[in-house]
Amino acid sequence: MSAQIIDGKQVSTEVRERVADEVAEFIAGGGHQPVLATVLVGDDPASHVYVANKLKACKAAGIGSVHHELPAETNQRDLITLVRALGDDDGIDGILVQLPPPDHIDADAVIAAINPAKDVDGLTATNAGLLAGGRPGLVPCTPAGVIELLDHAGTELEGAEAVIVGRSNLVGRPLISLLLGRNATVTAAHSRTRDLPAVCQRADVLVAAVGVPGLLGAEHVKPGATVIDVGINRTDDGLKGDVDFDQVVEVAGAITPVPGGVGPMTIAMLMANTLEAARARSLAKVWG
Ligand code: NDP
Repeated sequence: MSAQIIDGKQVSTEVRERVADEVAEFIAGGGHQPVLATVLVGDDPASHVYVANKLKACKAAGIGSVHHELPAETNQRDLITLVRALGDDDGIDGILVQLPPPDHIDADAVIAAINPAKDVDGLTATNAGLLAGGRPGLVPCTPAGVIELLDHAGTELEGAEAVIVGRSNLVGRPLISLLLGRNATVTAAHSRTRDLPAVCQRADVLVAAVGVPGLLGAEHVKPGATVIDVGINRTDDGLKGDVDFDQVVEVAGAITPVPGGVGPMTIAMLMANTLEAARARSLAKVWG
């Protein structure tokens, strides 16, 4: 029997509508309009499309935005100066530096300059540490979107065996903490894992965040498992996930497609994080 398809487009629309309602309520209750600052260095066409979509999503959610576009030859010091200034600017709630920057810029150094209270991508050491410690903070958007999709699909996480393939700071590692926080039994697999099919076969919830098209096939999936495919790989046949969809759809209980699964969730969760940052900053002003 074919798996239930988890529709990321629909869930992301619901999240974005929910955020728009909450932004309107926040403002009606005396709050300020949340504002996201985006910073884009260079002329990578894909990055330009991503940022344009983020700015469009802000508008639709009633979130203000300020966009900084810098030439490719911008030096790291000037970029860090801008990021620090945005961190000190009371009119800005969220800072998003579109990654990756040009090769001559060290992304880690730029991330380290982001004010953690405005780190809506959840990438600073402060927010990563809070998440690893099970404490409230700003959570990276893609892993947060994965949890939203699992909840939407009605997947039981408490006590479930969850296997994440991939351990990047952007996706795999934050997901370990998020799934542990939901009381799943979590295994992180990676390029050195022995017998990947056997490890994956244990999973009630299997998340692929690898970057290798079609890596996970039917032999990796326990019948009835929920499979979340974070992979976005450009191939000659178009965008492909890390999961061989045609095989796995026949084995899994529920599965996300690529495109139209995790992809649309990232921007939706960015909007949610921007509102959360605005709320937290507004509370901090009241309570000090
Ligand atoms: P990284 O390259 O940073 O990490 C990949 C991970 O996969 C590493 O932990 C690596 O292991 C592991 N890995 C690589 N090859 C294998 C293998 N053959 N078997 C098992 N594990 C392997 O990637 P990201 O986490 O940044 O991205 C992963 C995928 O998700 C990409 O396709 C990316 O495009 C997509 N993505 C999608 C997003 C979205 O939907 N909005 C956002 C972010 C990413 P090791 O640590 O041992 O090297």
